[in-house]
Amino acid sequence: MTREIHLASRPSGRPTADNFALVDVELPALADGQVLVRNLYLSVDPYMRGRMNDVRSYTPPFQIGQPLEGGAVGEVVESRAAGLTPGDVVSSMRGWREAFVAEAKDVRGVSRDVKPLSAYLGVLGMTGLTAWVGLNLVDVKAGDRVFISAAAGAVGSVAGQLAKLRGCHVVGSTGSPHKVKALVDDFGFDSAFNYKDGDLPGQIQADAPDGIDVYFDNVGGDHLEAALSAMRVHGRIVACGAISRYNDAEPSPGPRNVALIIGKRLTIKGFIVTDSLDQLPAFLKEVTGYLAAGKLRMQETVVEGLERTPQAFIDLLRGENIGKMIVKLV
Ligand code: NDP
Repeated sequence: MTREIHLASRPSGRPTADNFALVDVELPALADGQVLVRNLYLSVDPYMRGRMNDVRSYTPPFQIGQPLEGGAVGEVVESRAAGLTPGDVVSSMRGWREAFVAEAKDVRGVSRDVKPLSAYLGVLGMTGLTAWVGLNLVDVKAGDRVFISAAAGAVGSVAGQLAKLRGCHVVGSTGSPHKVKALVDDFGFDSAFNYKDGDLPGQIQADAPDGIDVYFDNVGGDHLEAALSAMRVHGRIVACGAISRYNDAEPSPGPRNVALIIGKRLTIKGFIVTDSLDQLPAFLKEVTGYLAAGKLRMQETVVEGLERTPQAFIDLLRGENIGKMIVKLV
């Protein structure tokens, strides 16, 4: 027997605890080519909110009564698959469950030597790759003035540090004074501000008086509108996420100043990180080097216990995390 978190009902607006159910299930016997994995760490991610709606996007919707799929790192405890033995550490997309049986091709072996292993869900995993791919997409280079929203989160904190390593001037926005301080003191941003203090255009202008060359958009909505006003001519925008809109029941109007794209000759590029998995080896080579050299700081907010996974997800959408939000199974 093992335990899983299932989608109990589809959220309307912000998710609540009763949208999720903790369920006991029986594991199937292992067939040839399969492994039994016990999860050690689970990922909670903003995109999972979109999959809770009954709408087909770039991924199919979660089904009611089924487990929530997502990133996880675990240990092989039994194997009938060539090349995988008990004790091996693997990452998978099998999500919010304590254990699972899978075909060997559905898990990816990772190094046991990385500490903590949850790094494979953050700085060395999907969110780190997202930051790296996003910066490369608009060719971020020395001297660029870069503005990043949701900057103290998993993607934002890595994107900001990588931009600093490339010689950029980096400004971040986030939602609390504590996180503003962390952006400057811990992650090395040149400056940061709390968007909840209001006047987003004024705060960007104060921190980047000559305008911005690159906007790394994790938030959309009012942040995108303010950034459009602050963009310099030939500026580039990375459309990575729009978390301010994920709980909207109805689509909201776009930025009122979208026509600025024309006069400023802006480039806006959207992307989905899973299209770039072929770049994982190059990304890992570069970023593990920075980590080993102490040039990149990894931060996590860790919650313990499978049963607390839904609350960790709810808290992520409320901004309770700094760095990557992780669930550690005990
Ligand atoms: P984070 O760790 O950044 O957590 C989400 C953060 O968003 C919260 O901590 C909160 O921080 C902020 N937030 C929540 N609501 C709002 C709001 N209304 N306005 C402004 N900020 C808000 O998550 P990730 O790093 O995993 O993801 C960041 C973004 O990147 C998301 O939009 C996500 O969907 C996107 N993404 C895109 C991918 C792609 O392939 N394109 C892949 C992975 C992620 P605060 O306290 O600052 O408000």
